[in-house]
Order: sequence, then structure tokens, then C-alpha cells
Amino acid sequence: MRITDVSTQRFSYKTTVVRDSEGHTHAGDEHDAVQTMVTIATGEGVVGRAFGGTPEALVENVFKPALVGEDPLMREKLWQRLRHWQRAHRDLTDREVGVIDMALWDLAGNASGQPVYKLLGGYRDKVLAYASTMCGDEIPGGLSSPEDYARFAEWCMQRGYKAFKLHTWMPPIAWAPDPKMDVKACAAVREAVGPDIPLMLDAYHFYSREQAYYIGRELEKLNYCWFEEPMDEHSISSYAWLSQQLDIPVIGPETAEGKMYTRAEWIARDAADISLAGVGDVGGITPLMKIVHLAESFGVAMEVHGGGAGNLHALGAMGIPGEFYERGLLHPFIDYDAVEPWLNAKIDDLDADGFVHLPQGSGLGHGINFDCIQANLV
Ligand code: MG
Repeated sequence: MRITDVSTQRFSYKTTVVRDSEGHTHAGDEHDAVQTMVTIATGEGVVGRAFGGTPEALVENVFKPALVGEDPLMREKLWQRLRHWQRAHRDLTDREVGVIDMALWDLAGNASGQPVYKLLGGYRDKVLAYASTMCGDEIPGGLSSPEDYARFAEWCMQRGYKAFKLHTWMPPIAWAPDPKMDVKACAAVREAVGPDIPLMLDAYHFYSREQAYYIGRELEKLNYCWFEEPMDEHSISSYAWLSQQLDIPVIGPETAEGKMYTRAEWIARDAADISLAGVGDVGGITPLMKIVHLAESFGVAMEVHGGGAGNLHALGAMGIPGEFYERGLLHPFIDYDAVEPWLNAKIDDLDADGFVHLPQGSGLGHGINFDCIQANLV
């Protein structure tokens, strides 16, 4: 089997999710947005598809030269090639390498008639989800106060979630960040859901050591189960210091560049108690599984960052805890359970017990609504 083409289709859809100047998402007015589907085709008619923003220039200058004519089942070889090409192609981000890697895994699944998580070495058919909120805002009844978070946490418990993670207030909100407000929101949520629900905080990412230490100690009193990215992740020393000081598990890195190499350095330096990686952060399923096995080999717990098909299939193949699927981002005014217009069904439906089930179709298991994509091409 040989790859004959790599192509993208861009299409518009309606959304009420907006982005602020720092890149965080919030609830907003309905507007048009653009989604991209990448298709890798073969002479045999087997295709692989994945979704994500992939500029046309990258397809022409990088992906076609790197992939066309190659055996699509040689995923490791193709991933290593793209990894090396990143050195010269500085616009080739891990996120875009990840989209191609996921399309190759989808193709392999379609060729064999198996879901990706079983090709990876299946371990489980469902994963417990946690509700992951958007960052705090100033929308009345949204996520504008500790009381808002508490009310929303109660709603999530009624919806079936068994765990909850806050993203609190960050710039460009004028008064944010504020460690005391973060703690107040965390306390209000603990009060609302009772003592037994696993809770996590993902705070402002540029606190000082002292601010992070203060919040961490307060989270310990509230029996939170992890503390995520409260400082710049480029400072491994700061995280090693924080993990040493605190009893609550510190989790990371999330956004630090460097794929599995960065996770290895964090583990070697005891910079976090729980390792963290997602397909969009590290360049796809191929490197994510390297990190899974790295963490397993060092006896370090690991969690998967972010949702979507790629992360879900990796969780289905993890033999180490990888306890939760991150479902979201959620907001009182966003209907996350609505099916994306370009799909026929949700990839991560939540069952009544708070679990997300692994897709059983071949490949990544996206039921794609091709009519919708055709009708909205841009
Ligand atoms: Mg995070």
C-alpha cells in the first residue's frame, strides 16, 4: 500500500465559542468558524482522516513531499521524518504533526477494520471522564464568581460527571489572576459537591513560586487531587521545588515543547508527581504512547491532556492509571453535548455513570457527516 495524496478540506460551521487575546476559550455570540479535515489517500482506496487546522502551504511544502509514495503503515518512520523536518520548517508545529499522525493511525485502523486503541494494544473499553471548565469570565451566571463555579459543578454532577476541574480567572480580565479568588472558587466547588468527588485546579500559568505554594497548601486542605500548570513550565527547577514542598500531586508538563524528551527530563528531575501529555501537545498518538510507556517504566502516574478521538484511543490503550478523560471545555452557556456539525455522533458521549466509551468502529471512529462538509466548503 502506498500513499497517493494528502489533501485538506476547509469548511465553515456555526459556533458560540470565542477566544480571548491569551488564546483561552469562552462562551460568546454565535459566529462562523472554520474547521479543517485532512485526508491521506492510498492507491488501494483506503483512506485516513483527522481534523485540525493545517495550512495549505504545509500540505504542499511538507506533507506531500514527506508522505506521497510511502507505505502509510510505516508510521514510526513517517513520524520520525516529520520530527526531523521540524528543525528547518519552523512553521511545522507539534499540533500539525499530530494531525497527520492521527490520520495515519485512522488509515491503519481502516485498513485492518480495527479501532485504533486495539491496534495500540487495547487495555479498556471505557474511561472515567472529568468535567473540565473553561477559564473564568465576567459573564453573569457564567463562570464569573466562586458561586458560579459551585452552581456549575452541581449541574455537572447531575449531568453524570464523577470528577471536576476548574480553570480559573486569567488575563485579559483586568483583576486576574488572583490566588485568593482561585482558592475561593475551589472551596465553593468542594462545598457544593461534597468530600468524595475528585477535584483538580488548572490555574494561571505564570504565578510565582510563593503564589503557587500558597494555592497548593490551600488545595491540600480542600482535598484536591492535583494542581496543574501554576507556573511557567520552562522552569523545571520551579516545579521540582514546588513538588518537593507540597503534598498535593503536581501534574505536568502540558504546554512545554519537546515531546517525550521534556517528559523524560521532568521525570528525571522529579519536577511533577504526575506526568501529562496529549496528542496536540506532543505531535500525535505515536509520541504520546512513547510517553505512556516512559511513565510506566519509571512508575510515574500519567494523565492525558485534552479530549478528542486521538487522546481517547490512547487512554484505551494505557495500562498505567491514566485515570481520566478530559471532557470539555465546558461552560454553563455552551452545549458541549451537541454533536459537532461535521460528525454524525459525538466521539465522547458521557454515560450515566460518568464514563466515555471507546469508539468501536474502525480507525479513530469518527462518523463523518460528508454532506455537511461538502455543503459548507470554503
Ligand atoms: Mg491544563
